[in-house]
Amino acid sequence: MNVSKVMVIGAGQMGSGIAQVCAQAGYEVVLNDLKPEFVERGLGIIQKNLTRNVDKGRITEEQKQEILARLAPSTDLNDASSVDLVIEAAVENMEIKTNIFSQLDKIAPAHTILASNTSSLPITEIAAATSRPEKVIGMHFMNPVPVMKLVEIIRGLATADEVYQVIEDMTKTLGKVPVEVNDFPGFVSNRILMPMINEAIYTLYEGVATKEAIDEVMKLGMNHPMGPLTLADFIGLDTCLYIMETLHEGFGDDKYRPCPLLRKYVKAGWLGKKSGRGFYSYE
Ligand code: NAD
Repeated sequence: MNVSKVMVIGAGQMGSGIAQVCAQAGYEVVLNDLKPEFVERGLGIIQKNLTRNVDKGRITEEQKQEILARLAPSTDLNDASSVDLVIEAAVENMEIKTNIFSQLDKIAPAHTILASNTSSLPITEIAAATSRPEKVIGMHFMNPVPVMKLVEIIRGLATADEVYQVIEDMTKTLGKVPVEVNDFPGFVSNRILMPMINEAIYTLYEGVATKEAIDEVMKLGMNHPMGPLTLADFIGLDTCLYIMETLHEGFGDDKYRPCPLLRKYVKAGWLGKKSGRGFYSYE
């Protein structure tokens, strides 16, 4: 099974990063979102990142143009009819993801692998929305994608060994390090990270310390590169809430209950850096 053309669904912070690293590695990439302006925004982020790489001498202007030429915009899922791999990076919501996967199943050729960049949702359940569960797999990139080395690769119950191998090899081609995990809510990364972030939000909610103090304690005391509230803003508070809800529902354990302050911020539209305001304000 050979992957040469990839479709990335969702041109947000993760999808644009995934499209960028795939195009950089030589793959033809179709970047899809609901509206042309969303795709344009994603392509704009990629262009900015590549220009910065040219300025820093990491790539030449010619290489930048070659990478951009490998990226094609799309607002039509039917474009999946000519790709070998789809990487879905739409919002963290099971209904939206299963809807996308059942449509892709009908459109994509039989050999096409369908991967999800979900942070926490069961791959097995997403796969069940298709008639090819053996070709469905989790490919969980970290944020920001061009910088972070890890890709958690999640096997659904039915994922074929051959499909796992193709995705592991491709991850290495992207210059990333694959780590194999099994399909449980939050996998490894978010099962450990997200309860820590949620606890930091409870610490703020209960008035134990200011947001700056909480972040400072974790940065200076635990040697984390950024504090948990800053990190939550970077991830997106809506995504953090979806993940906590998935852990809460998936394990049925109240230790995963999302902090009411997190719910309140999401209801207010304070989604973190991407919306200009979360725990902190962003110009
Ligand atoms: P985002 O909000 O920045 O982007 C989501 C994009 O998906 C938006 O542009 C939206 O218009 C698009 N979209 C929604 N429904 C769609 C559909 N039906 N078809 C096509 N596009 C659609 O979110 P994000 O942070 O990029 O997260 C995307 C996925 O990646 C989520 O599943 C999230 O859990 C996962 N993820 C996020 C992070 C992170 O740190 N933010 C890290 C790893 C994985």
